[in-house]
Amino acid sequence: MRHQPGVLIVEDEPAIAELIAVNLRHNGFQPTWAMDSATAQRELDAVLPDVILLDWMLPGESGLSLAKRWRANPRTKSVPIIMLTARGDEGDRVAGLDAGADDYIAKPFSTKELLARVRAVLRRRAPEQVGGVVSIGALSLDASTYRVSFNDQMLKLGPTEFKLLHYLMKHAERVHSRSQLLDKVWGDHVFIEERTVDVHVKRLREALGANAGQMIETVRGAGYRLTAQSALAAPSQVSV
Ligand code: CA
Repeated sequence: MRHQPGVLIVEDEPAIAELIAVNLRHNGFQPTWAMDSATAQRELDAVLPDVILLDWMLPGESGLSLAKRWRANPRTKSVPIIMLTARGDEGDRVAGLDAGADDYIAKPFSTKELLARVRAVLRRRAPEQVGGVVSIGALSLDASTYRVSFNDQMLKLGPTEFKLLHYLMKHAERVHSRSQLLDKVWGDHVFIEERTVDVHVKRLREALGANAGQMIETVRGAGYRLTAQSALAAPSQVSV
C-alpha cells in the first residue's frame, strides 16, 4: 500500500478544518485535526506528521509561538510547516517565515493552491544531494568544484551569487525573507541593507539565463524561493 502522507491541521474554525480535511483525504493524504495548541502538541507527541498546516490565530498559544517551539525542538524541527493566515500584512508574513514556517498561505485560499503547496513542501523536503552536488530539475550545483550547470551547460556565477544559489537549492520550495537570506548567506546583516539581496537575486537570475532564472521566484511581500515548479509562480487567490 502506498504511504499516505499525514497532515496535522491545527485550526480552531471547524468549517475550515473540515474543508481542508475533506480535500486532503480525497487527494490521498491522512489528515488529523487539532483545534487548539494543547491538542496539537498531544497529536505531535503521539505521531509525527509529514506536514503541519498551522493557523496563526488560535485560542491560547498562537500559531506563531507554536511554530517557534516546534522548530526549536529536535524531534519536530524538520517537519514542514505551512502557516494559514488571515493577515495579509508583509510584516506578519515575514514574522511567520522567521519563526520557521516553510511557507504560508493567506485566507481565503483555494483548496487547489493549498494542495499544491502541501505537495511542494513534501516533494522538496529533501533535495537530492550526492557528495557536494545538489540538483533541482535540470539545475545542478557542485559545492566542491564550484560548478553550476543547467541542462549540462556550465554557468558562470560570482561568489555571492554562488552562495545564494547554493542556499536556495539546499532549501528549495521554501520562501525565504530578505532578512533570513542576509542571515544565512551573508552571515551578518547588521550593516547590509535588505535591497542588497534584490541586487544579487537579479544578478543570479541573469547568470542563470532565461530558463533556469525562472526557477527563482519573487514571492510578493515575503521574499524569494527556488522552485522546480514554475507553475506555482502565480497562485490563484480564489475564495473558498
Ligand atoms: Ca483561527
